[in-house]
Amino acid sequence: MKELKLLYLYPDMLELYGDYGNIQVLKYRLEKRKINLIIDRYSIGDKVPDFASYDIVFAGGGADNEQSILSNDLIKYKKDIKDAISEGVFFLLICGAYQLFGKYYKGVEGNIIPGLEIFDYYTEAEPDRKKRCIGNIVIQAKLDSIETEVIGFENHGGQTFNIKSPFGKVLYGNGNKFGDKEEGFFKKNVIATYLHGPLLSKNPEVADYIIKYCLERKYNENISLEQLDDSFEEKCRSQLLKKFLSEKE
Ligand code: GLN
Repeated sequence: MKELKLLYLYPDMLELYGDYGNIQVLKYRLEKRKINLIIDRYSIGDKVPDFASYDIVFAGGGADNEQSILSNDLIKYKKDIKDAISEGVFFLLICGAYQLFGKYYKGVEGNIIPGLEIFDYYTEAEPDRKKRCIGNIVIQAKLDSIETEVIGFENHGGQTFNIKSPFGKVLYGNGNKFGDKEEGFFKKNVIATYLHGPLLSKNPEVADYIIKYCLERKYNENISLEQLDDSFEEKCRSQLLKKFLSEKE
């Protein structure tokens, strides 16, 4: 039986708007195909994880306070995380975690929370804490050969700059900054995005992109995933897309 191993970082601190649901969706879609998902968790004080031994690393969103608490701990693993990314481990990073993989996050009070500096984007919050990008969002994402509309929910004060390869083009909502045309950061084995939702429940194609990538890498073979019955998800997606994209006009 095939299986994948996932590492869930800081589950006690990085979990907003159902982010854990992303893991549940991966598990569900894998199990439907008779593939097991092992889920390990790491938080401050736990045994140091062997990042490169995982297929997927997941970290969710969190408030500035949690980000500042855990950033010093995360930075201890900078080299291990960088190596794991270079080796092709898949990283799914939502909102607060997305910000922490860049150079730094500057909070509302001007305080700097150092990032892992693995990617050269950086994030700065507006000094007025009421100024936040909040609401539903739709982007047109390109995941290698797959083009799909990705639906989610954003709530961030941080404005992210210097993105060279975005996750998608904004069709509705804000994105990396107020009124931006681009959202998130993407490379073959990294999706870093502001989209909560949880992201994967509303976007089964994104979930299957991650699953296919991880299986092909681990088993070194071409994988064609068994089609699942996504009629319910598709119905929900078409309603949401109709609603949000017509509101825009
Ligand atoms: N604290 C960050 C911000 O407000 C991240 C919030 C989040 O993860 N939703 O920009």
